[in-house]
Amino acid sequence: MVTDPTAVILGWPVRHSRSPMIHRHWLATLGIPGDYVPLPVEPERIDVVLNGFAALGYVGGNVTVPHKEAAFRAVRTADDVAAALGAVNTLWLDGDRLVGGNTDAAGFLANLDEKAPGWDRTDTAVVLGAGGAARAVVWALESRQIGRIVVVNRTLDRAEALAKHFGKPVEAAEWSTLPKRLEKAGLLVNTTTLGMTGHPDMTIDLAPLPESAVVNDLVYVPLETGLLAAARRRKLVAVDGLGMLLHQAVPGFERWFGRRPEVTPALRDLIVADIGKPA
Ligand code: NAP
Repeated sequence: MVTDPTAVILGWPVRHSRSPMIHRHWLATLGIPGDYVPLPVEPERIDVVLNGFAALGYVGGNVTVPHKEAAFRAVRTADDVAAALGAVNTLWLDGDRLVGGNTDAAGFLANLDEKAPGWDRTDTAVVLGAGGAARAVVWALESRQIGRIVVVNRTLDRAEALAKHFGKPVEAAEWSTLPKRLEKAGLLVNTTTLGMTGHPDMTIDLAPLPESAVVNDLVYVPLETGLLAAARRRKLVAVDGLGMLLHQAVPGFERWFGRRPEVTPALRDLIVADIGKPA
């Protein structure tokens, strides 16, 4: 039986998640008795777990791959972002009713606002990838009134489906058109798995980007990806994906434990050290 307020992260697998480290750091530094634990749930069992969530005694939790869409289907109420994306990454209870939100878009924006202030003065953003993370990024860019959002994906159909889902100002483009698309881009965001440890590297040529462009990689393992290194060589502003992970965790913690935590250099250092450890 859960005693102190405890939140969970539901995923499959979930052992590599840094979320327990983030939330436990905040619990310890704020002196709040409570815990945050990983709960591996196989895809076949996720509906049962979500439907019975209120009875488990947790104050809420996060949802990660591959359960974000199942969580959206299971909640009684979803916030506007979760409803727009069809995916829930944060759960809480309103009495016995399960409520879901999505904080990925807010985390993405907070990271760029912190590390590249003024980034949203651009007219054009290019988003690489058309999966779940790309949806959150496109929603976020739309919310900042970016005039043109070009989604470039290996599988054009998925980029087109995403563009159709959001409508104007989102458009899909073929990977082969990237050099031309980059010429006017004030922001380039990688939401693909390229560059992640264990995946092929991202090898696109950044030469066409304007001098003022910001390059953001959502990948944070490794922290310094090939894409970010290439951006730094071109003296562009390069923003890693760790800040998004840290910032997306803030609203959930505040809901479950009643205090708004801060993303501090000490927290970042803690996770950076963990990323640097051998697997
Ligand atoms: P996803 O839904 O599986 O989408 C993966 C994307 O990567 C698709 O667009 C896929 O293209 C593309 N891709 C995969 N292999 C490729 C290759 N060899 N060449 C070109 N494109 C390739 O995954 P996701 O949930 O969106 O996550 C994507 C990345 O974002 C992951 O690295 C994840 O860790 C990161 N992420 C970071 C944060 C954060 O807080 N920093 C949050 C969420 C996600 P196709 O459609 O052609 O398959």
